[in-house]
Amino acid sequence: MRDLTLCGLKQALENRTYTSAEIVGAYREAYSQDRSHAKPLNAYIEFFADSLDHAREADALREQGKGGLLNGLPLAVKDNIMIRGKEATCASRILKGFTAPYSATVIERLQAQGALFLGRTNMDEFAMGSSCEYSCYGPARNPVNRDYAPGGSSGGSACAVAARLAPCALGSDTGGSVRLPASFCGIYGLKPSYGTLSRYGLIAYGSSLDQIGILARSPEDIALVLQAAAGVDPKDGTSAETAFPDLYPLAPLEFKGRKIALVKEFTEKGVDSEVHEITKRFAGWLKKQGAEVVDISLPVLHYAVPCYYIIAPAEASSNLARFDGVQYGYRDEAAHSLEEMYVSTRTKGFGTEVKRRVFIGNYVLSSGYYDAYYKKAQAVRSLLSRECQKLFTDIDFMLSPTAPVPPFPLGSKVDDPLAMYATDMCTTFANLTGLPALSLPAAMTKSGLPVGVQLTGAMFSERSILQAALSWRKSGESI
Ligand code: GLN
Repeated sequence: MRDLTLCGLKQALENRTYTSAEIVGAYREAYSQDRSHAKPLNAYIEFFADSLDHAREADALREQGKGGLLNGLPLAVKDNIMIRGKEATCASRILKGFTAPYSATVIERLQAQGALFLGRTNMDEFAMGSSCEYSCYGPARNPVNRDYAPGGSSGGSACAVAARLAPCALGSDTGGSVRLPASFCGIYGLKPSYGTLSRYGLIAYGSSLDQIGILARSPEDIALVLQAAAGVDPKDGTSAETAFPDLYPLAPLEFKGRKIALVKEFTEKGVDSEVHEITKRFAGWLKKQGAEVVDISLPVLHYAVPCYYIIAPAEASSNLARFDGVQYGYRDEAAHSLEEMYVSTRTKGFGTEVKRRVFIGNYVLSSGYYDAYYKKAQAVRSLLSRECQKLFTDIDFMLSPTAPVPPFPLGSKVDDPLAMYATDMCTTFANLTGLPALSLPAAMTKSGLPVGVQLTGAMFSERSILQAALSWRKSGESI
């Protein structure tokens, strides 16, 4: 049963092959079995004890002929998306013990359609990282090879889906955090266009970059969840007037007449040769489907990572200022004064990478360096947006690797922040520009590790991106 996709489970529920309680029971069983493994995956921070109750409620509704689009379907949720009454810690010591006072809009919308939640998934602290190793709960592992990182920051979500501990999961993507772990774990991961999914109730990292994303083993599952969760939200001032009322069921894409750009900047220096070769092979498949594949160069893409690593920490330093021991989670009670309490709470509560980001953010925003760093990064961001907008008037998709490297062993990059940041080479531009991007499982390396490729489209072109991915999945060439 756990091999079924979310849409497969939907069918099974509708056909009365399984009940929701049986499905949730199977995931719970698999989760507890994994905990006794010598190297547990550590995908979940908490598996909700009440998920079975919700499953039984959904089953009762179904018996009465009621229930929404997602009735009785379970999802896993990254630990930075709030579910009322549940802890939400962003895998940080500073938020331990913080209970969400309300639910994120996305959570409410999914619940309104009958979805239920299996648990909170592991992540890099405050979503800062690319390997899921910067977590106060210890790293999650890659289910394909447990000595490897699952990718980050939504590593727990990707791990849970790939290991069949959940059929689908929510993550968040500020610079690649849904797509990178999807690529490393061999599944699909979508970062929607900025504004598509409400950020209300997503604990902010970089507000102008953050989007909730969806991870699944099939593009159709993503379409189903996106349809249920998208739509303008008055509680999020940046939410867009876009909805996708009829994404599901999803049809494959007709590639004839489609133009796809392979960008030179993401295929040359810094890209592992096997990853490059897999991307080329995928381009070959697109051509076989009738698409026109063109090589282009967009030199400004070289500046996406440096630009991102100025803007994201700047916004993070401001967003994380609220965690000072007064209102949320952890407080160092031993401090003698207010000032000392702030300092020691933050010193003990935040991990090294988060502190590094706060330092960088405050530095680039400081009056002496604002013009040199923050202002310049904003100018680069505008240029990048203009160039991409121009590009997408002529092409349908941009094809690139998702990550420049295959999955790497746990521990191999944790002490080298620049090497970690470099893994975001192909993903950050989509957040800086707001464009939707999807990682597809493309192939395995010779040593048996998954590699993803990324399709990026024009604003709000989620449907055709997902359709293209569905064609890939149905072709039987996918992993
Ligand atoms: N790896 C990037 C960072 O550390 C992206 C994280 C994300 O998308 N949340 O900032």
